Amino acid sequence: MSSSLETGLFVFVLATFLGFEVIRRVPKLLHTPLMALTNAISGVALVGSLVVAGAHETTLSTILGAIAVTASSINVVGGFMITDRMLRMFRRRRAPKVAADGTAASGQAAVPAPAAPKQRSERAVQGLFTLGAAAYLAAAALFVWLLRWAGSGDDNATRTITSIAYLLGGACFVLALRWLTDPTTARRGVLIGEVGMLLAVIGTLLKPEILSYEWIVLGLLVGSAIGIPMALFMPMTAMPQRIALSHAFGGLAAALVGTAHYYLATPHIPMFTQGALGVEVLLGFLTFTGSLMAFGKLQGLLSDRPIVYRGQNLVNIGAFATAAGMVAYLIVNPGATALFPIVAVLALAFGAMLIIPIGGADMPTVISLLNSYAGLSGAAMGFVLDNKVLIIAGALDGSSGLLLSIIMCRAMNRSFSNVLFGAFGQLQEPVAADIEERPVRSATPDEAAELLDAARSVIIVPGYGMAVAQAQHKVHELSDVLGKRGIDVKFAIHPVAGRMPGHMNVLLAEANVPYDQLFDMDQINDDFAQCDVALVIGANDVVNPAARHATSSPIYGMPILNVDQAQTVMVIKRSMRPGFAGIENELFYNPNTLMVFGDAKAVVPQLVQELSKSGAAA
Ligand code: NAP
Repeated sequence: MSSSLETGLFVFVLATFLGFEVIRRVPKLLHTPLMALTNAISGVALVGSLVVAGAHETTLSTILGAIAVTASSINVVGGFMITDRMLRMFRRRRAPKVAADGTAASGQAAVPAPAAPKQRSERAVQGLFTLGAAAYLAAAALFVWLLRWAGSGDDNATRTITSIAYLLGGACFVLALRWLTDPTTARRGVLIGEVGMLLAVIGTLLKPEILSYEWIVLGLLVGSAIGIPMALFMPMTAMPQRIALSHAFGGLAAALVGTAHYYLATPHIPMFTQGALGVEVLLGFLTFTGSLMAFGKLQGLLSDRPIVYRGQNLVNIGAFATAAGMVAYLIVNPGATALFPIVAVLALAFGAMLIIPIGGADMPTVISLLNSYAGLSGAAMGFVLDNKVLIIAGALDGSSGLLLSIIMCRAMNRSFSNVLFGAFGQLQEPVAADIEERPVRSATPDEAAELLDAARSVIIVPGYGMAVAQAQHKVHELSDVLGKRGIDVKFAIHPVAGRMPGHMNVLLAEANVPYDQLFDMDQINDDFAQCDVALVIGANDVVNPAARHATSSPIYGMPILNVDQAQTVMVIKRSMRPGFAGIENELFYNPNTLMVFGDAKAVVPQLVQELSKSGAAA
């Protein structure tokens, strides 16, 4: 084993352990920004793409390199910007005014909180960001030019600078994730991640293999032109789709760099390199089509119900095994060029076939898994190009994706194989006993407002329906109105409420709900028994008591929020239709449950209006 390969493997194992250790400390609150940040970091596939696009070895390799530069710069530019945009939304509660005796105006002890950050208008911040991105690119270009000019003719000097830049870049990525473990330092994490990326890009642009920059500049410009608007204007409710798309870009970049490298180096490719290249291309292409399918399902372009047929798993496993077999053959005979396109096509087909049988709301678990595939594909690229920063970033991305998938599976009490092969989410036919009419208590928004007004404590439980209705701003208004009337208001966040980990936290942060008003399931579950009203807004499966006792239920064993223990449960949804799991919710038939039928976007404002009216009258 060569010493470089040995170091590479050492770095990979170390970075994977480090990744697991750091990422498992990231609070659930920040899981969505974590996904976006690791996406941005995985955009470091850019360094492999820059060399292929700038080396001008063949027309094919230059074109593949330029596409890869475009795809990875979408992730880099867009990924960092959207992570920062999200993190800017997270705020703590303002400290209540402290009276002379040390108590807050409301009579409670004053909570120390940092001064609220100055609020700039969103438009001004967007403008600043665009300017910042342009300045960032210009500074990088100037710096590279200066360094090349200073070290011209001395390849060893530039290689040393590149190695140091990679080393520092890798350290910055680890630090970025470390700072993401706390909301107060999270934005610093984005900044250090950007510094790491800048170092990696500058180190690469110095490489003597790069002969010209026109394709690189073109790729960077097109990538930024796509990535910046995606980061600035994509609604927070569409975050799952954006993440799926960025995995597609990451997978594509890695696969194209691998393809270019194969055609440039064949048949003189050492066995280990050919093995790594096979993994890079296989995982890269399957991540590309798999993530595009996930995007289609999340965006509603494809049916979100699982599409299944007899023998499906056999066909899928057969396609993957054939591709893996061909990769193995290429390791021994790298000159068998006819096999390479077949591997690529099989990987592309397998990626799509893997997603077809999976239901729409399982897409978050799937995209996390694809995230880890994209990471592994990037790490494999690092082995092919003997590039340590790629190995580090790939290992971090891989561990983050895997860890988040495990967390989601645990929160749903499901296994990976059940998610991937269980065709979960098909509508369950109701059994005869279920069909028999059962009484449901319903209330109008006016009646619901009266009940809320009489409560002393309210726990709001948001779910996927709140996201679909984009009702988070109205929900914040409602919590404010209740708070002003002296009612204690908390938010209970289930780990898989919505369509991605931390989805509810980001939406509520977008609506300015302070993050210390949001409580994880484990923190708040015991409080439901003492609360007057549990107000469920567009949530269904995560509050379904069947998960506790119905052994035949698809959600059996999933930990749920104990809303049924509240004195009164109020549920805002449009109908009695089931949620993602496709099953009835017995909570809706409980004697202490009141259904308030309607779109959350319409019902919540009515509640606010009624409560404000009664507040004014009081
Ligand atoms: P859910 O079970 O999918 O239920 C959402 C409810 O929202 C529906 O019953 C729907 O009822 C209602 N709704 C839809 N549009 C609405 C609107 N405009 N106004 C008011 N209500 C509306 O959602 P959940 O309770 O949040 O549970 C999430 C599900 O996703 C779980 O099954 C979980 O396992 C799965 N999942 C989540 C993740 C994750 O990371 N978050 C990952 C994998 C799987 P109506 O149609 O009657 O209005």
